[in-house]
Amino acid sequence: MVRHKCISCGKHNGLIPIFKKGTNNGDEEDYSRKIICKECLAVSEEYGTCQFCNEEVAYHINDLKAYQAGLYCNEHYLEAIPEDEDEKEDWDSFEEYILDPCHCN
Ligand SMILES: [Zn+2]
Ligand SMILES: [Zn+2]
Repeated sequence: MVRHKCISCGKHNGLIPIFKKGTNNGDEEDYSRKIICKECLAVSEEYGTCQFCNEEVAYHINDLKAYQAGLYCNEHYLEAIPEDEDEKEDWDSFEEYILDPCHCN
């Protein structure tokens, strides 16, 4: 049996499993063999947790996207962004542009 310990400090308790690189909204089958403790995770620049997924699992930082104060996996990142953000404004001005006859030539 594998003896689990933090990849950073080697501690044996308060450990959180880390998903394999490329995991999106994963489950236990996506765990890598790496484990990190909460203290190291909190200061890690390589691993982080999705705000919406189970907080007891860490993602590789490449698999997370930052939105406001939080990090999200790719799937939850889409859910985290309210629909009335920038994209809608762009769409509104696009509509104005289309409806404005001056631009039609
Ligand atoms: Zn640690
Ligand atoms: Zn997530």
